[in-house]
Amino acid sequence: MRKKIVAGNWKMNKAFQEADDLIYDIVKLVDNNGAKGVEIVICPPFPYLELATDITENESVFVGAQNVSNQESGAFTGEISAMMLNSIEVKYCIVGHSERRKYFNESNHLLAEKADICLNNGIIPIFCCGEVLEERNNGNHFDVVKSQIVESLFHLEPKEFKRVVIAYEPVWAIGTGVTATTEQAQEMHAFIRKLIEEKYNKGIANDTSILYGGSCNPHNAKELFANPDVDGGLIGGASLKADDFYKIIENLL
Ligand code: PEP
Repeated sequence: MRKKIVAGNWKMNKAFQEADDLIYDIVKLVDNNGAKGVEIVICPPFPYLELATDITENESVFVGAQNVSNQESGAFTGEISAMMLNSIEVKYCIVGHSERRKYFNESNHLLAEKADICLNNGIIPIFCCGEVLEERNNGNHFDVVKSQIVESLFHLEPKEFKRVVIAYEPVWAIGTGVTATTEQAQEMHAFIRKLIEEKYNKGIANDTSILYGGSCNPHNAKELFANPDVDGGLIGGASLKADDFYKIIENLL
């Protein structure tokens, strides 16, 4: 059975006290109103990860990082390793967000290394894929998403791949207020699931959680999540307000 997941990507936002308040507010909403059957993940910036894992200890909210080094350890000034994340109880890590691909030139090859290092250190990668608008307009969106997945993930053994979460995030929908239609989301999610079935098997394909990301908010989450191949969301802007984030989660309950 695949998991339903709603993950919040805070990106580079919030000062310490604001982060502290937001984590407590999310935990309070989940405690008071419930979120049975949905795995809730918050991905704050690095300096707040340990705060987040402390506050969410014994709660049904889990913590993810937004990035990780492709190196195990050593002289890599400014980098954060998967072992470090694991040592402070971080469970997930976003790998291959389009902002990292664009601004930090992260290639499919580098992302394969990041996926490996996460899995080798007990961290679940939330692997992001998605096309830019020009690629969709040219009808290349399926090919683009296919190569991202094939080149970064399909070297994994079945038992490793089983631990991966995929997030389909059309780049033109991220932070733009334009969301994919439910048909566009379902079509791509079904395509991704089929790819997984062809490479691995039907069981693994059925058990892989595939999240949608891109301007998902309390108003459109219901429709998006109603699709049979959409197993939740990776949420940017709307994850920065506890009420909005919880309203999105409610659509999966
Ligand atoms: C994201 O950055 O992963 C994202 C989905 O952002 P937003 O929800 O703001 O479009």
